[in-house]
Amino acid sequence: MTEGLQRRARDENGKPILVSQDMNYQEWYNKYIDKEEGIIDNLFNKNRKVQLTDITNQRVSIINQAFSNNNIKTIALNTNIKSIKLGENKAYHRQGNIVLKHNYDSHTVIHEIGHTVDYNNKWLSSNNNFVKAIQVDKQYILNNKEIYNKLIKNNSNYKELSDIIGGMTNNEIVGNYGHSKKYWKKSNKLERETFAQMFTMAGRDDLKQLELFQKYLPNIFKEFDDLIRRLL
Ligand SMILES: [Zn+2]
Repeated sequence: MTEGLQRRARDENGKPILVSQDMNYQEWYNKYIDKEEGIIDNLFNKNRKVQLTDITNQRVSIINQAFSNNNIKTIALNTNIKSIKLGENKAYHRQGNIVLKHNYDSHTVIHEIGHTVDYNNKWLSSNNNFVKAIQVDKQYILNNKEIYNKLIKNNSNYKELSDIIGGMTNNEIVGNYGHSKKYWKKSNKLERETFAQMFTMAGRDDLKQLELFQKYLPNIFKEFDDLIRRLL
């Protein structure tokens, strides 16, 4: 009965696998889930037939259901999403097209629309001030590791906060959610994920997390606010 020591998960082809209990979430994620959005998927899925269902015509109701904040919802509704399809085993955005899992949640919808907003505005996240703000806050984190370790320890379940601080510190400081070190090394990932994660918090009206960002990543918060105002 080794099964008791393992938990159920799925591999990259959606096949159920058992994950050893001493493999933590991050290790499991790195081994089985993390791939560059879209590109490596293609290599792995070459021989796999995926039936994607086009749900682009449900765009408005999907957005209305997912978003809580009206300003961000309006931005989403005004965004040209080329297509929304269902049926992959992970969610991703590629050049204005969104692919979701069958059992997608509002969190993922907002996140992928965040990437679409970023892309449609000539990668808004590459804005000089935004990129600079990430570097300034990053330096502050590296100079105050103890404070940030404590912050993440106390809030390890906050997906966006954990992911972004993980990305900024090359996973030296990370909670229960994040991407692999390899992923973060790719160019533009940090600013694009930071934008999408902040867009997600704002779209969900997640005031608790937004307050944490405002307090602990103040420069990023300010520049994100600036970028969003341009879209309103
Ligand atoms: Zn993303």
